[in-house]
Amino acid sequence: MGTTARRLESYLEGAWRRGEGDGRPVLNAATGDIHALIGTEGLDFKAALEWGRAKGGPALRAMTIHERALMLKEVGLKLMDLKEEFYLENFATGASRKDGWADIDGGIGTLLTFASKARRELPNTRVLTEGPVEALSRDGSFVAQHILTPLQGVAVHINAFNFPVWGMLEKIAPSLIGGMPCLVKPASQTAYLTELVVRRILETGLLPDGALQIVTGSAGDLLEHVIEQDVVTFTGSASTGQMLKSSPAILRNSVRFTMEADSLNASILGADAAPGTEEFDLFVKEAHREMTVKAGQKCTAIRRIIVPKAHQDAVIEALSARLAQTPVGLPDDEAARMGALVSLKDRDDVRAKVSELAKEAEIVSGSLDEVPLVSGDADKGAFMAPVLLHCSNPMRAEAVHAVEAFGPVATVMAYEDTGEAVALARMGRGSLVSSLFTNDGGVAQDVVTGLAPFHGRVLIGNRKSAKTSTGHGSPLAPLVHGGPGRAGGGEEMGGMRGVKHFMQRTAVQGTPDLLSAVTGQWVEGASVRADIHPFRKSLADLRIGDQIVTRTREVTLEDVEHFAEFTGDTFYAHMDSDAARANPFFDDRVAHGYLIASFAAGLFVDPEPGPVLANYGVDNLRFLTPVYFGDTLKVRLTCKEINPRENAGHGEVRWDCQVTNQKDEVVAQYDVLTMVAKTWPLAG
Ligand code: NAP
Repeated sequence: MGTTARRLESYLEGAWRRGEGDGRPVLNAATGDIHALIGTEGLDFKAALEWGRAKGGPALRAMTIHERALMLKEVGLKLMDLKEEFYLENFATGASRKDGWADIDGGIGTLLTFASKARRELPNTRVLTEGPVEALSRDGSFVAQHILTPLQGVAVHINAFNFPVWGMLEKIAPSLIGGMPCLVKPASQTAYLTELVVRRILETGLLPDGALQIVTGSAGDLLEHVIEQDVVTFTGSASTGQMLKSSPAILRNSVRFTMEADSLNASILGADAAPGTEEFDLFVKEAHREMTVKAGQKCTAIRRIIVPKAHQDAVIEALSARLAQTPVGLPDDEAARMGALVSLKDRDDVRAKVSELAKEAEIVSGSLDEVPLVSGDADKGAFMAPVLLHCSNPMRAEAVHAVEAFGPVATVMAYEDTGEAVALARMGRGSLVSSLFTNDGGVAQDVVTGLAPFHGRVLIGNRKSAKTSTGHGSPLAPLVHGGPGRAGGGEEMGGMRGVKHFMQRTAVQGTPDLLSAVTGQWVEGASVRADIHPFRKSLADLRIGDQIVTRTREVTLEDVEHFAEFTGDTFYAHMDSDAARANPFFDDRVAHGYLIASFAAGLFVDPEPGPVLANYGVDNLRFLTPVYFGDTLKVRLTCKEINPRENAGHGEVRWDCQVTNQKDEVVAQYDVLTMVAKTWPLAG
């Protein structure tokens, strides 16, 4: 553990800056030593926001989405190499190495997940499109499309003390990929760890100037200077969040504000999960883990343990036994299973909250006064024993559903039937997450549909996922994190949804040609170019709108019978005239849909080796009109979207493929997906 106090700095307007004076001491949570000195007096936050908007924004917007994602991948890999330094600093927060895993490895992993998902799921462009092109006129001359472009302000990210690394990285990853520069404001109590990580990120030199700034210490007048293009995200207590959400500049300028606040998350034991079942054991294990990891200082921790009345004594007994065997001590002591709370002040706050809860519930395990320690000093370090309460009349209680004791504290409460279990969970008035332990599909359906409108995430645990479950308390990059009501009403992460939060959605209306010019995607009705076969063109020459209209091909009885025999698909509609006519959709035997798609490929493919390297699938395939024997097919293939890969010799090309019959009716419509070389012949 560090013993010399470091004077923390803020990185603003392209330089590390100290606030005036010596700074306020920040204490090591476990030893009580002064760990760092912090302060932002005299720093100019208005200028920092302007710097981000003027420098960072344009530099990020000049890059494509894939370029920004690749940049973050490199940052993430560098941070992985440096993580041991972060783990050492983590001890001062009171968290053990195991506690730090979700913060440090989890944070870097989240950054890397965003970097790779963005390259897989989003196109390599500067403008995103969303949803289908909407036809607004009969003749196709006026259409519309929703587009997403990066907001041109700064994303101000205010974080809670408990996840100094993850909290920052899960927020900056989607914003930077979305094209917005960030100004992060970690909680003062653990800002030394965030500051260290930001230093290491900036030292990589990978981010453009102005893309990342940090305020280390009080935020002062920062929020007075936010404007309409900025975004503010907040993670912390509901009371601070509500105060900030109603700051005058945020209200005046309609600044997008996302709030991730505390919540009284529940875990429900299904009525089927009696003592002796695997679900019962998993439930008790999870409740214990959630109470003790990070000393219960997790926004997602289980605060309310909701159990069938018949099993409540067994739950209390089993959980109390586990809690009693949880050694508390210094976070770097391997004999300890639980470290310290973040500060003595926070411990006082948790004790006060437990006293409030104790008006409605009795303490059945642990004590506020004593903490049996394996190491450390309870007067200097913020150590606390886990406290389990039992509320005997939860439907009439208030505090147990409303007061968050942000420490190793939870309350057991019993329900009569499934409806009451759901009602109790909902008395938290909106939570980040709840879990249910059951092996019964009916219970799962009733409880999850009852909980879902009140939650951002619901985890179902049972014996079959016991080894693979990611657990009640872990928010994951691809999944939504946030919840309604008490939980703040926000939504973060959720895969690429999180990126779009930092972009403006705009409906653009116009002619197909002008819409194509804006989005870089060919739109039905836009101009086309029909010179050489587009499969002869590498990405150097290929343009959207390049098109081929093929010759025709007749579909015969022999073709269909041959295809049926060859593939084994002898479905009656292709083979039996009477049966086909009895079908409401067909007038006679019809060709197989996959035969049509195969014939289409035979018509549009240019067979010689060339820049088209592979076909990797089709999207949105629809068979729209039945094809009868004697019909003739024709294909129109148009280059719709080109996505060069940043670090490869090829890119993905999406082709609009339309198959029509002799009456010009569309019989099949789909997107053909191919890999195409950037140059031809291939370099090297
Ligand atoms: P907090 O006291 O509400 O502080 C949160 C952040 O707000 C800190 O960075 C704080 O900075 C900042 N802040 C306070 N006043 C401000 C102001 N006037 N202008 C700008 N920023 C201001 O919360 P905490 O004690 O750090 O964290 C614990 C709480 O966070 C718990 O209630 C927990 O449930 C919640 N939490 C929620 C989530 C979630 O994802 N939903 C995640 C983690 C934690 P200073 O530290 O400098 O005051």
